[in-house]
Amino acid sequence: MTLDKELRDRILKAVEDGFDEQVAFTRDLVRMPSLRGREHAVQDYLFTAMKDRGLAMDRFAMDRDAIERHPGGSKFSDQHSEAPIVVGIHRPAEEKGRSLILQSHVDVVPEGLPEMWSDPPFSGAIKGDWMYGRGAGDMKAGAAANIFAFDALARIGLRPAATVYVQSVVEEESTGNGALQTFLEGYTADAVLIPEPEDEKLVRANTGVLWFQVKLRGVPVHVREMGEGANAIDAAYRVAGALREMEARWNDEKGEHPHFEEEPHPINLNIGKIAGGDWASSVPSWCTIDVRVSIYPGRSAEDAAREIESCVADFAKTDAFLSNNPPEVVFNGFFAEGYVLEPGSEAEAVLGRAHEAAIGAPLESFVTAGYLDTRVYALYNKIPALCYGPISQNIHGIDERVNLPSVKRITQAMALFIAEWCGVEDAR
Ligand code: ZN
Repeated sequence: MTLDKELRDRILKAVEDGFDEQVAFTRDLVRMPSLRGREHAVQDYLFTAMKDRGLAMDRFAMDRDAIERHPGGSKFSDQHSEAPIVVGIHRPAEEKGRSLILQSHVDVVPEGLPEMWSDPPFSGAIKGDWMYGRGAGDMKAGAAANIFAFDALARIGLRPAATVYVQSVVEEESTGNGALQTFLEGYTADAVLIPEPEDEKLVRANTGVLWFQVKLRGVPVHVREMGEGANAIDAAYRVAGALREMEARWNDEKGEHPHFEEEPHPINLNIGKIAGGDWASSVPSWCTIDVRVSIYPGRSAEDAAREIESCVADFAKTDAFLSNNPPEVVFNGFFAEGYVLEPGSEAEAVLGRAHEAAIGAPLESFVTAGYLDTRVYALYNKIPALCYGPISQNIHGIDERVNLPSVKRITQAMALFIAEWCGVEDAR
């Protein structure tokens, strides 16, 4: 049932009326530096915020064995977060509509060099239309929007006429195991909406992502004899060159992958971290590079992993030093496949109407080349998985910021989406 104009206008206004409070709430979230493994405080904050709103609460830990057994499970490492996953549950008086998951992640990536930021990285400073801070866009604005879209209905005496799960997860920036754990706990619904910072567009297709390390070992000598020594850092450069050739091959195959044919460079391989050596005057005996690479939807992570291993092993055989010291490849995080949101779902139609009413233009879709938790819901829950959220800039970069007028518009669209998808009943 589509929403009548009178109800639509009341919902739009209800979001507007709560927006100052929503901005303050978002800033509270940004001010909590919830780096990987340090998400406990923000999860407690969200637990309390949802409990205060009358939601039934659930909180659980990752089940490492179950995740490792599941084909969508990513690899564990010492850095894996042990923070809990939090779910707020709304049950209607009578289940009349379609159920919904609203999901967000609270983990944020490292801030980089603080002195490069205009304000401290976790300031939540507001300048003009923008709120600044690591995680402001990715995705604390979305975490707050999930709750405030819900609040907007309450503000006008309504609530969803179907079960709604508000999930706050961790590990989205490194494994996606938080989202997978919600699935393993048995949570599912008729659709999911994840308000990642997607510039007010809907994600049509999304690559998978793998993380791996290449570990090199060499023979340490004094630099005056370095002709005889094997420099592990130099060797890492050569391995990186071989990986770049693999990246180029994968990009050359884009024509075979629907939704990615028009993308200029759909596969990005990032050498994100390098560590090695001990002393300026000693030839380094070790070097480790941390790499992230994307894969097309439909390709299994296992298959891509075998190709990465062969790429490194085959190159090593051609290299005088590496052939005697074969590098080791270790998968230590994302081991995740991509997904496609097939057009034509009823969920997409409802979001399209909500978007048009809130934003005044048709909903556009696009493809993204980064990891999204939406893949868990698309691939394993097998439900319409909508990733759609506000305009942001510099996520994962310096001076990350989210556009506040955009946050208001997408919260309005989300509130309208909930009202139409779930239906509404009187809050008693
Ligand atoms: Zn994100």
